[in-house]
Amino acid sequence: MIGKEGSLEAPTRHPLDWKSEDFWDEAKVFAELHRIYDICHGCRRCVNLCTAFPTLFDLIDEGPTGELDGVDPASYWEVVDRCYLCDMCYMSKCPYVPPHPWNVDFPHVQLRAKAIQFRKGVKVRDRILSSTDAMGKLASIPVVVKFVNAANKSKPARAVLEKVLGVHRDRVLPEYDSAHFRRHARLPADLPVKDGSKTPGKAAIFATCYVNYNEPHIGHDLLAVLAHNGVPAVLVEDEACCGMPKLELGDLESVARSKERNIPALARLARAGYAILSPVPSCTLMFKQELPLMFPGDEDVALVAGAMFDPFEYLVLRHKDGLLNTDFRNPLGRVSYHVPCHLRVQKMGLKTRELLEMVPGTQVTTVERCSGHDGTWGVKTEYFEQSMKIGRPVFRLMAEAQPDHISSDCAIAARHIEQGMAAAPGLKRHPINLLRLAYGI
Ligand code: SF4
Ligand code: SF4
Repeated sequence: MIGKEGSLEAPTRHPLDWKSEDFWDEAKVFAELHRIYDICHGCRRCVNLCTAFPTLFDLIDEGPTGELDGVDPASYWEVVDRCYLCDMCYMSKCPYVPPHPWNVDFPHVQLRAKAIQFRKGVKVRDRILSSTDAMGKLASIPVVVKFVNAANKSKPARAVLEKVLGVHRDRVLPEYDSAHFRRHARLPADLPVKDGSKTPGKAAIFATCYVNYNEPHIGHDLLAVLAHNGVPAVLVEDEACCGMPKLELGDLESVARSKERNIPALARLARAGYAILSPVPSCTLMFKQELPLMFPGDEDVALVAGAMFDPFEYLVLRHKDGLLNTDFRNPLGRVSYHVPCHLRVQKMGLKTRELLEMVPGTQVTTVERCSGHDGTWGVKTEYFEQSMKIGRPVFRLMAEAQPDHISSDCAIAARHIEQGMAAAPGLKRHPINLLRLAYGI
């Protein structure tokens, strides 16, 4: 293939043409997989990002010709199954993304293949794990929650779960909490709205399934930090899962249903001048990037994307507006901080680190590598070992700093890192919890 090396222009991204007939045409998807895999074979820059690329290169290298024509196209699915759509190859490595004429969008062709795979039928396990909202509601019912949390820690119960559902017995699972964040949120009211030139002066919280059902304290910490900074806040009135777990499964119809449920309320808040904050990077990314790519002509989707902030992005912009309280009372010591992939691809710089480093007596060691968990991928029996292997350099780098705290904006990645670090020092805390600690509130 002839073409110039690399592109000097800023990357762009084509919308996901998922409503066209071509999108669902398996022969056309395989032709596109073949075209892109062949370019990757000649490039190999992404070999250490995840296990999708090594799988592809092993298939080629171990084939009879040492080229892609020696690989049985049926094996292409092995690569598809190892991609968890973190977007890092597109965003951080690939010089051939649009507007380069080679038009390489590795994650999007994987997503297209996953969508076809989903229509053919996927495991019950994958449908259950990606139904975070329904699972959260059920598992956190007061009587049920004790049983679920105990079972998740019981070896015999986990052996059964592995056999029946394909959830690896050694994966540490998050606890459920019956005191849902949305039910117990104490909203900072009666505060005057102070708009800045870069930030709206009032916030709406998109709680997320994970914070609502698993770690409500993250939401409470966020509200406390906002109140301490004089920002009045409300909850998004009617909230469903953002759709990211369904997107990763290729279940695009469910993503569309989540969008229909969430976007009207979010668009009303955006029109009313709220900054919408979501404390889980994957959910924030869903609204900032994935829905606009799936629904490119939808005005409300674009409006919500423009109003959506990562909490630390918002707080650092608040600082630029001269409206952030920087009266920190407590040093944080050594913090090993992991930047999740879904935060990196939001292309806003390292705002969490920037803010934590403003706290006197704080040394932040930053680790910018994929932890290897993804939402549900690293939980599955067949991928657990690979997930721990991908995470190994992260575990090592996080431990090397002998941290007082280990932290990641992604609470799921943080739990995975804590598991991988085993007996290494450092108390796991979400960055917003660290900030609350620094304020002494
Ligand atoms: S999107 Fe992420 S998981 Fe998928 S191939 Fe690219 S780097 Fe690997
Ligand atoms: S995605 Fe791009 S950078 Fe990565 S191996 Fe393929 S061509 Fe190379």
